[in-house]
This record gives sequence, structure tokens and C-alpha cells, in this order.
Amino acid sequence: MIQHQPANTPTKICSHKDCNKPLPATVEYFYPDPAKKDGLSYYCRTCSKLTASRNGKARRRAAALRRKVENPNPVPAGYKKCSSCKMILQATSEFFTKRSASADGFGYWCKSCVRGYQNDRYHRGTPSLQLPAQLPDQPLQQAPGPVANAPY
Ligand SMILES: [Zn+2]
Ligand SMILES: [Zn+2]
Repeated sequence: MIQHQPANTPTKICSHKDCNKPLPATVEYFYPDPAKKDGLSYYCRTCSKLTASRNGKARRRAAALRRKVENPNPVPAGYKKCSSCKMILQATSEFFTKRSASADGFGYWCKSCVRGYQNDRYHRGTPSLQLPAQLPDQPLQQAPGPVANAPY
């Protein structure tokens, strides 16, 4: 004759690092989880509730952060952000070089950056190391006025 005594109920230790409480291994203390060996979840009910709400919050925060990082300033329609100088300019051949391979038909860099890069490369390519002092024939322009003040 088997007698069911409360003392014989197997105990289960909550796996949450801040809890680790030995509790009766019953659905009263642990959420049922058919995927687990003993049919109960790793965390006690209290911890499951806590982690669920915390995870939910953290997930939402992470998603919001990701959105912010991916899209810090939304670029208005018809405009394009230069991936070199980060300026938002009109997506026209006036500011960007045409590039049929890209999705919008324009290159990633604005024209002034492309020019700057080409100048830079040209200067670096010249054997200037032998010269005692290198004087650039013109200062590198980073953001020319009229382009920087593009109306938008
Ligand atoms: Zn717990
Ligand atoms: Zn640029």
C-alpha cells in the first residue's frame, strides 16, 4: 500500500541564478513544460513571471535601439544620404554620380566626396615621400558651401 505523503514530493531547484530555491516539483510551483524531462520548466513560477516581463521589456528596448541605430535621421523621399560625408542631398545627378548597378541608380557617395577621394588617391599615388615638405596644391575641401546648404 503506497501512501502519498507530502514529504515524498520530489523537490526541484529553481535554475534562476538569483533564486536557486528548492521547491516542490509540482505545477503549483513550476509552470508545466512538456519539453522538459520532468515536465516542468527550469524556473519557478515567480522567476518565470519575472524573467518573462524583463525579457519583454529588454526586447522592446533592443528593438527600439536597433531602429534608432539603423535609421538615425530618416532621409526624405527623393533625397539620398552620402555614405562618406553623411550629408543628405537631393538624389539627382547634380549631387550624385549615376550608377546603374545600385538600387536607386546613384552611387553611394556624393559628387564632392567622389572628387575628394579621387584627388586624395591621386596625391597618395605620386612619389611625394622623397620631397622634404609636401605642399598640397589646394586644401582638401570636405563640404563645399553650396552643396552643404542644399535646400530640403
Ligand atoms: Zn525561482
Ligand atoms: Zn559626400
